[in-house]
Amino acid sequence: TLNSTKKLDNGIEMPRLGLGVYKMTEPEEAYGAMEKAIQVGYKAIDTASLYNNEEQVGEAVKNASVSREELFITTKVWNTDQGYDETLRAFEKSLTKLNMDYIDLYLTHWPVVDKFKDTYRAIERLYDEKLIRATGVSNHEPHHLEALMATANIKPMVNQIELHPYLTQLENREFAQKHKIAITAWSPLGRGRVLEDAVINDVARKYNKSAAQIIIRWHLQNDIVVIPKSVTPSRIAENAQVFDFELSEEDLQLISALHRDERYGKHPDTFK
Ligand code: NAD
Repeated sequence: TLNSTKKLDNGIEMPRLGLGVYKMTEPEEAYGAMEKAIQVGYKAIDTASLYNNEEQVGEAVKNASVSREELFITTKVWNTDQGYDETLRAFEKSLTKLNMDYIDLYLTHWPVVDKFKDTYRAIERLYDEKLIRATGVSNHEPHHLEALMATANIKPMVNQIELHPYLTQLENREFAQKHKIAITAWSPLGRGRVLEDAVINDVARKYNKSAAQIIIRWHLQNDIVVIPKSVTPSRIAENAQVFDFELSEEDLQLISALHRDERYGKHPDTFK
């Protein structure tokens, strides 16, 4: 069900499916998408200070028929705000915009060279102060995580990376599994481009599901937290109808074999 969660290393339960809200800068559009998602049972929203819609997240959560505690809110510190003191200040701003007294998960958006370790130290402090329920990072390669973990007191609980059938991220996933770091897939549908894939559409016909549902299900069965984005109400609902069927091992493999190292975003080593 939509209440299905992934247990993070500190015991916190993170919803396995959430709404991603990147490029929803029109306030009404963002609010409408979040309102719809919560109405149909989504329990998580993935935002970032960069997305410029934390205020709408706050409003949608405040007006929801479910309580704040039932929802899981992720936000991120943007690259120009990194560093120890800067991150603490950026967090305060996000918290104010979100109009909340805590956030479930706070992430370093990208590993800014010479800053990401200090950024993460600030995130650890926020965790110690109970202002966030879990710590994490985004776009960190194993070498970034190794560098962090060499000095960190608290291991990051989540790494959010670009991941979809054309970019299966085996190395990152193996590293994460070994260190009990949960993986969240961003652009889980490859920004919509993997939806056209012929193999995925064949599988979709077989299960009488849409291509989007097949891809989301593939993530879930691979133990990957998934945050597809849509502003279209029918698609928001469709993307959540993924707990009533199961892909066979054979079909999972067929989809994994589509990997072709194709990125729609930047690489963490050259993102500037
Ligand atoms: P996505 O892979 O979720 O694709 C979204 C696009 O797919 C939509 O704009 C729409 O055109 C299409 N789509 C969605 N559902 C559909 C359906 N049922 N049928 C047909 N088309 C459908 O791409 P995304 O928005 O890039 O990624 C999702 C979320 O990941 C973002 O909103 C954001 O929260 C997060 N993200 C994080 C980072 C990061 O650096 N951490 C970077 C990019 C995105």
